[in-house]
Amino acid sequence: AEEALRQSQKMDAVGQLTGGIAHDFNNLLTGVIGSLDLIRTRIAQNRSGEIGRYVDAAMASAKRAATLTHRLLAFSRRQPLDPKPVDANLLIVFMAELLKRTAREDIDVEERFTEGLWLTHCDANQLENALLNLVINARDAMPAGGRIVIGTANLSAPDAAAAAGHGVTPGDYVVLSVADEGVGMSQDVMEKAFEPFFTTKPIGQGTGLGLSMVYGFVKQSGGHVRIQSQPGRGTTVTIYLPRYLGADMPVPAAARPAPEGRA
Ligand code: ADP
Repeated sequence: AEEALRQSQKMDAVGQLTGGIAHDFNNLLTGVIGSLDLIRTRIAQNRSGEIGRYVDAAMASAKRAATLTHRLLAFSRRQPLDPKPVDANLLIVFMAELLKRTAREDIDVEERFTEGLWLTHCDANQLENALLNLVINARDAMPAGGRIVIGTANLSAPDAAAAAGHGVTPGDYVVLSVADEGVGMSQDVMEKAFEPFFTTKPIGQGTGLGLSMVYGFVKQSGGHVRIQSQPGRGTTVTIYLPRYLGADMPVPAAARPAPEGRA
């Protein structure tokens, strides 16, 4: 619990810092892009070829940087949660379809549903986002191809002993998992994987925000997330979300709006 608190305070601080920097940076980039645009129109009459290419390259980089700052801004802005009863099986169907249409040929996607899956109570858009992040990570972890298994399950952990095996607190959970046969994570990577901006991917491919967003969403929804991984064998990320227990279900404290509503 202490670890979770520390992590969430860190996320808050990083979020504020990121928001400030991203905002200023974005203004600077607007200046850079505007100036490059001007240079381009000036040299258009006087095409010396080479200069034009440099300007185009600078413009492309500036636009990539702008995209990144937009993502940082979106990350730092606490999206208010809109929790509703959700059938996670439906989200998984959608996700698997998307994956089959867009993934590489050498990646197999398998769905393993539980019939009669309980409803969970969370923000469906953010759950979809979280799953998308997990699926993208699974794909990136399999440069040589392989299988991604997306599954759902009901878990009743009525007492401490039953819950301990899953690293959760006692209760009823809707479980979602994304398993891959990819490169896996070393102990060191696994320990840092949830930290904002931690990435082992090349610049431009990884932001290091995927798993920290998953973590933030799951915690805000009153759930848990766990990584199991073996280097060279693969990784399974499991999300435990609280079961929906009817309209008067208590809302987890973290999902209530912050007292001094931060933008
Ligand atoms: P990003 O994907 O942008 O790097 P994430 O926060 O989603 O950011 O992931 C952080 C790091 O955790 C990744 O760079 C990678 O090293 C590791 N990781 C995440 N998912 C997996 C996975 N399924 N298999 C292996 N490593 C993973």
